[in-house]
Amino acid sequence: MSHKKTKGYYYYPSSSQHIQCSAIIIDEHIQLFDNGACPIVSSSKDACTLESPLPGIAAALCFADGGRFIPDDINFRWPFAHQKHGLAQRLEKNKLLIVASVVFTPILLWLILYRGIPAAAVYSIGLASPSTIEAMGEQSLHVIEKLALAPSELSSDKQAMIQKQWHVMLEQLQLDNEQFRLSFYQSDYFSANAFALPHGRVIVTDELVLLLQDKPDALRAILLHEIGHVEYQHGIRLASQATASTIVLAIIFGDLEGITEVVLGSSSSFLQQAFSRDMEREADKYAIEKLIALGYSNDDFADAIQALQNKLDEQAQLDESWLKYLSTHPSSQERIDFARQYTPQ
Ligand SMILES: [Zn+2]
Repeated sequence: MSHKKTKGYYYYPSSSQHIQCSAIIIDEHIQLFDNGACPIVSSSKDACTLESPLPGIAAALCFADGGRFIPDDINFRWPFAHQKHGLAQRLEKNKLLIVASVVFTPILLWLILYRGIPAAAVYSIGLASPSTIEAMGEQSLHVIEKLALAPSELSSDKQAMIQKQWHVMLEQLQLDNEQFRLSFYQSDYFSANAFALPHGRVIVTDELVLLLQDKPDALRAILLHEIGHVEYQHGIRLASQATASTIVLAIIFGDLEGITEVVLGSSSSFLQQAFSRDMEREADKYAIEKLIALGYSNDDFADAIQALQNKLDEQAQLDESWLKYLSTHPSSQERIDFARQYTPQ
């Protein structure tokens, strides 16, 4: 017959009220006595559960009615615990492991977020159907429209003229004119800007059209750069990375509600247009190659960026918000140099 005794506190069911008492464990049976040796609780071992021990606190014993007993002695071991928590406890007490986890957890997190997820995102693009991408893109447009876009104030003649150039260009490049759509909006938020949504809708602001109205080649170069982002699926990569990162962070930090905000999250990543420098270079290269294919030259791209830069510099002296297009792209000089030195393969 095994017999074990320990002192501790008994917490009444659903209450913070507690009393000091002693627990006596005889074989499979537990009995609690108050300081006057009157029995308070009596239970068989099978009707109780043992809480996982936290460092510095002994494992609490929970009774079927919700009452709990916590031993005073932090090293107290319940005879029927059978080393159940032995491994977790040993790990928690190992100082080297604690130091290692403090050092390696951020590294692991970084690897997951910046290496694992981008790699998985590239892979997952192949799994997304065109209708999913279309729905995701239009949903994003809907959100961005509400947040930052107003109906275009360009004349219908002006819009029709640019749309015609756009369609001629799509036909020459043998691109699907149902997938690639051009939309005009007025936007205080974006000012002179253009961006592509992942399904192939390219948004151009009135401000950009007006800024480049005497430079049709510049607008063409910008539009080709945006088509490049769609063709290389940069938007989808960005969105799936943002989505996967949100889910991973939500799981790690236990905020599963965050997942419901993922759709909004991917829309805001379009708002920020945080394409990587590699993605921007890829889109620039696409634009230059297509300009050459359409009978223009790589210098036209450089001239276009230079013209845009000059115009934006002028405007930026008056109003800082015009710098937004430049701030979301690599330096203009870098792009101009790249275009000038470009030799077709
Ligand atoms: Zn870009």
